[in-house]
Amino acid sequence: MREDFKRALEKLKSYKAKRVFVQYPEGIKLRIQKIAKDIEATGYEVVVCTEPCFGACDIRDFEATRLGCDTILHIGHEDYGAESDLPVVFWEYFIPSDPTPILEKEFSKLEPYECIGLATSIQFVDTIEKVKQFLESKGKKVLTHTALQHAAQILGCQLEAATKIEPDVDCFLCISAGKFYGLGLVLETDKPMLCLDLESGEIYDLKGLKKKIQKIIAWNKSQFEDARTVAILVSWKRGQVKLPFEVKKKLETKGKEVYIFAMDEITPEKLMGLKIDAIVNLACPRIGIDDLERYKIPLLNLKQIGL
Ligand code: SF4
Repeated sequence: MREDFKRALEKLKSYKAKRVFVQYPEGIKLRIQKIAKDIEATGYEVVVCTEPCFGACDIRDFEATRLGCDTILHIGHEDYGAESDLPVVFWEYFIPSDPTPILEKEFSKLEPYECIGLATSIQFVDTIEKVKQFLESKGKKVLTHTALQHAAQILGCQLEAATKIEPDVDCFLCISAGKFYGLGLVLETDKPMLCLDLESGEIYDLKGLKKKIQKIIAWNKSQFEDARTVAILVSWKRGQVKLPFEVKKKLETKGKEVYIFAMDEITPEKLMGLKIDAIVNLACPRIGIDDLERYKIPLLNLKQIGL
């Protein structure tokens, strides 16, 4: 039995759990039925929540309580500080990986940089030491900072582990699967940012994607100035709730007609048919970054409209 699963089971036991409500990210879907059976085999009743779960900001204690569950098992995330009326056990679900073959194959892309800052997601925190050792063996200086539970660990919306060391590094290397974490970071830093993608087995930069997103944001900002009818989007997910009433007042003093639209997961389809010139997003700050092209109406967050 894997060690992080053992720890999660020990925590469930310490909470005297009987019926467990399991939330998991999309990446674990193929394994979720086996996980459910493994948990059941240790004596718990299990309800698997199939609603999308993008982070530990999404704690479904209302739903779990309604279904008679007494504890939540949150897989693939770590505690984000969101409140919950039920105990929540976080199972990080570390994914063992060896980045060395990719580093060996792609090292020339890191050659120009003397000091490299590392960042990664919770699943791959175990790779950080291997990457550090490899780079140091090649004469590089390597920096990490601990802002969350583990060194170099970032979230889609919490990048301090990287931004704190930005003045001291020549570039960042983000170790992850896919572009999600790297994209969050490249938009926040002026330093070169390379992704070590454990899924594709490559090291690449996101310069092109950054430029494209910055262009869309600039266009959205210009459209917002002339927008007459504005929708403020809020989510009631535990860790995403921000009250929109002050923002509404401020926008109204600028002559806008403002509506507050609330939903669970924010998607462009839910806004179809509404008469809106622009959207201000108060929920997950990654909405309108990763899927900006899906929104036909200019979408901005508070920082982008200067509030
Ligand atoms: S707010 Fe968004 S980026 Fe932050 S943890 Fe939640 S889903 Fe991830």
